[in-house]
Amino acid sequence: MQIALTFDNLGEAADLERGLWPGDAPLGRHPSVTVALPRLLDELDGLGLRATFCVEALNCELYPDAVRGIAARGHEVAMHAWRHEAWGDLDPAREDDLLGRGRAAFAALGVDGVVGFRPPGGALTAASPRLLARHGFTWCSPLGARRERAAVSPARPAPTIATSAVRVRRRAWRAGAAAACSASMASSAAAAAAAATNSRRVKVVSVTARQCTGSA
Ligand SMILES: [Zn+2]
Repeated sequence: MQIALTFDNLGEAADLERGLWPGDAPLGRHPSVTVALPRLLDELDGLGLRATFCVEALNCELYPDAVRGIAARGHEVAMHAWRHEAWGDLDPAREDDLLGRGRAAFAALGVDGVVGFRPPGGALTAASPRLLARHGFTWCSPLGARRERAAVSPARPAPTIATSAVRVRRRAWRAGAAAACSASMASSAAAAAAAATNSRRVKVVSVTARQCTGSA
């Protein structure tokens, strides 16, 4: 069985989108990037694991070295919207624009192979399959989608990671990953990996930076 370990969210992007980031707070110093990410990458190295990091493309501007660093350590980088927009609410023109900006931002950093997409909020729009394919994405992991529905290109089938990522993630929490997650991002990676390898039901183990930094 294939196991995909994924991490969602990076930095202050989601808080900016939700209006939760204080207007006078500086950008580019979020502890999920400056503190947790280096520890997590070291932990993954130590465990010999490679993961998929679903990051908001805005991080290419705020944390270019961090985004490059994730890829340079051998992990997959996937797009998690531009600034964590509630994807299912977007109109096609806006969706098209954000996907294009995101792809261009990763390419400008020299981070190639960004072909995965995870929609914030879990929902796609009716236009998403067409737009994702047009922008070169070959897999996505919407909430509760079956593998065949998640494939954005019939010619390039979605890999295992696209199978019901969020539903399976909750199973992983019940398997024990959540307890360690509140302690630190790094230790949660180890716990998540252990939970995954100990349970045949778990195919995707996903951890969010928000959960791991204890910021609710
Ligand atoms: Zn998210």
